[in-house]
Amino acid sequence: MTTVPTDGKRKHVFIRTYGCQMNVYDSDRMADVLRPLGYALASAPEQADLVVLNTCHIREHASEKVYSELGRLRDEKQLRRAEGRDLTIAVAGCVAQAEGEEIVKRQPAVDIVVGPQAYHRLPELLAEAERKAAVHKAGKRVPGAGVLDTDFPAESKFDHLPAPQGARGGSAFLSIQEGCDKFCTFCVVPYTRGAEYSRPAAAVVAEARQLVANGAIELTLLGQNVNAYHGEAADGSTWSLARLVREIAGIDGVARLRYTTSHPRDMDDDLIAAHGEVPALMPYLHLPVQSGSDRILEAMNRRHGRDLFLGIVDRLRTVRPDLALSSDFIVGFPGESDSDFDDTMRLIEQVGFASAYSFKYSRRPGTPGSSMPDQLSESVKSARLAALQSLLGEQARVFNVSKVGQSVPVLFAEPGRKPGQIIGKTPWLQSVYAEGPQRLIGRIVETRLIEGYANSLAGEIVTGAYEAAA
Ligand code: SAM
Ligand code: SF4
Repeated sequence: MTTVPTDGKRKHVFIRTYGCQMNVYDSDRMADVLRPLGYALASAPEQADLVVLNTCHIREHASEKVYSELGRLRDEKQLRRAEGRDLTIAVAGCVAQAEGEEIVKRQPAVDIVVGPQAYHRLPELLAEAERKAAVHKAGKRVPGAGVLDTDFPAESKFDHLPAPQGARGGSAFLSIQEGCDKFCTFCVVPYTRGAEYSRPAAAVVAEARQLVANGAIELTLLGQNVNAYHGEAADGSTWSLARLVREIAGIDGVARLRYTTSHPRDMDDDLIAAHGEVPALMPYLHLPVQSGSDRILEAMNRRHGRDLFLGIVDRLRTVRPDLALSSDFIVGFPGESDSDFDDTMRLIEQVGFASAYSFKYSRRPGTPGSSMPDQLSESVKSARLAALQSLLGEQARVFNVSKVGQSVPVLFAEPGRKPGQIIGKTPWLQSVYAEGPQRLIGRIVETRLIEGYANSLAGEIVTGAYEAAA
């Protein structure tokens, strides 16, 4: 076990999170694991004894950012060592999983490399790293610096992680599923996060209750393929995501429920019906389509075509007419022609998205896409991305403006940039800022939307809503 300071001086950890919400959740859980060891959270690497980079490997650029941050941390470590102090550097997340030992070879200042399935082992890894650092200080040779754990253990990390601590601004993430068996030809997730795994339903429901007891009123269920959820229930049956959503929505205190990220193939009838029947399920769905061309969807091994996606959208809008849709798009996949790209633009026009994430195709070593012929030039990818983002940006603006004049419930989550300002989310996951007291953070307050922009709305708290929320 690593040493807990007894001199009243707390240790500090700084965790930098890259990538998706699953990483945000994992970072919180790492903080939970480290707290009993005496680690408080630091707000900058300079104030920390331990820095954890919780990395993302989804695009090439993402891992390069990690290496340049590691260069800066190495400099900080060298400075401290010259003063007789130390800095422990850990790399977690998908880059850790994918590159393992390579990280320590490329940046020997790294002390710990830990994959997403091994966070519960952080205390042992820290103890081992401390032992190695002590040997180093004594001037002895360190047998292979860097402590590594990138196994996919048979037991679930969830069985070993401590109970979650709480909610930020009334909102909390809850990881229910990890990994992916779909093997889209562009994607590293099946290699870095491993096979699809669903947590048992009872464990998820217990964690949901705990989060609500700790102050959460909004829960977002997370998974790389969250709607492929098939968790074992206490009676031996298997619960789908729809079944789980209905159960969690029934917990007293759950005002808002969301889930992400979904795959079109796994949008089953019951889940679609739940959007019309479960009031806590918010009218917003992130449903990645990637492309509007059947030819490219096939080459991506997405296992769904354009029509299946459009059919799901129609059915969802039938049961929940005010549903806002969001999606992920990749432009410039190998072999994508002008006409394939036009198909994507036409799909966007047909659906009308409230928000979206869009990316240039990035060649990931080891994925089938990286060795496909007809890789596109950067200039073609950039031009297509600009056209696509301009269309999606305009749709987002139009969607925001369409809500102006309405009074809607906003969950305020944090202080705004200006004094006296607070920021929250509408049911459609739009950011709203308004003048209001900090005590409204973590509460849902009726707010009139007065102006709409590309990425946010200005709001005015409805008179009397303070008292209702108090
Ligand atoms: N599981 C989700 C799905 O089925 O779409 C998404 C997972 S991935 C973490 C998030 C997004 O990153 C993907 O939807 C895709 O748009 C993007 N992405 C993944 N690999 C990529 C690559 N090689 N190049 C560009 N974008 C990529
Ligand atoms: Fe990656 Fe496809 Fe799995 Fe999503 S469904 S995580 S894009 S392989």
